[in-house]
Amino acid sequence: MTVKTPPARAEPPWQWPRAAYVHIPFCAHKCGYCDFASLAGADHLADRYLSALECEMAGALGEPQEVDTIFVGGGTPTRLDAAQLQRLTRMIRRWLVLAPGGEWTVEANPGTLNPEKADVLAEAGVDRVSLGAQSFRPESLRVLERQHGRTEVEQALEIVRPRFPRWSLDLIFGVPGSVLDDWRSDLEIALGFDPAHLSCYGLVFEKGTALWKQWHSGVVRPVDEDLERSMYETTIERTAAAGLAMYEISNFARPGHESRHNLVYWANDAYFGFGVGAARYLRGVRSVNTRDLPAYLRRIEAGEPATGPIEELSAEQRARETAILMLRRTVLGIDRDDFRRRTGFELDRLAGPVIERFRARGCLQDDGQRLRLSPEGVFVADRVLCEFL
Ligand code: SF4
Repeated sequence: MTVKTPPARAEPPWQWPRAAYVHIPFCAHKCGYCDFASLAGADHLADRYLSALECEMAGALGEPQEVDTIFVGGGTPTRLDAAQLQRLTRMIRRWLVLAPGGEWTVEANPGTLNPEKADVLAEAGVDRVSLGAQSFRPESLRVLERQHGRTEVEQALEIVRPRFPRWSLDLIFGVPGSVLDDWRSDLEIALGFDPAHLSCYGLVFEKGTALWKQWHSGVVRPVDEDLERSMYETTIERTAAAGLAMYEISNFARPGHESRHNLVYWANDAYFGFGVGAARYLRGVRSVNTRDLPAYLRRIEAGEPATGPIEELSAEQRARETAILMLRRTVLGIDRDDFRRRTGFELDRLAGPVIERFRARGCLQDDGQRLRLSPEGVFVADRVLCEFL
């Protein structure tokens, strides 16, 4: 397939996107903690969904757009069969032209990837796979309602390693019933695979999920705060010892293996978003598609946008949001000149007292040019970021 390179745009990346997110909502099973726009038992809608997705891309873009990063997330994109993945990658290549050296990530779950599907993705130009391992402990996987184990992760890595130059593992700590040694063992197993990128998230009890209901009816209890902190501390120490630098509060990578797509979000740059529940951020306006799959299909098929609420922030709100997102980047933090260029605001005029307060408490490091969370600040990041609002 020959793809014409679209003309480059003059707008900076915080105004007009150089990144695109594509959502595939299908999953084998709805995990108990999951609050994503995902659903099980809807595979029969996959072909119809792909048609709607292409309609949405064509309608929203009008013409092919050159981007630096593409992220296909879910749900479980690899729940699609090989022919459907072929269709998906063709439409993405038709509408989103990856610039030379660009990054194209696809999320996968252990147990859903086979060599045939992986070949389709690799041949289309996908160069990064993000694999949701979450845990290797049967007890934690049961609490999270994940339907795979260590063997499936090993099998998936055997498929991924020879085909994709970059891959990442996702893990979750703070699973009810787990102790520090359980998390240590999960981390050691993950590091034993020698990943160049690791994402480690503290478990969140999202309102309305099955796990949240179990918590509220007393079936499970969150781990206590001190234990969660120790788990996070262990994560930071062990990943550093393994050569993975913390570049965002939940993300660790060898130099050059950071997720370029996620760095777009943390710079508050613009991005396209397609599919059910997908968000986009264009010229300072954030909008989100409906999370209801039948409604998404109906609306797109009727030629209507699938967009739900549109959030138009004031310039100051946008600047504050930019500060919060940038501070999540533990290495880059906020560069004052860059911040001014992007937002039109002086950081210290916007948040001087907050910066001073947290600097005095040792939560922020400031060399006058760049502001960053300190090693202590990462443990109270939520509190610090909140104050910037
Ligand atoms: S596989 Fe991922 S997206 Fe699907 S239900 Fe589980 S956590 Fe949610």
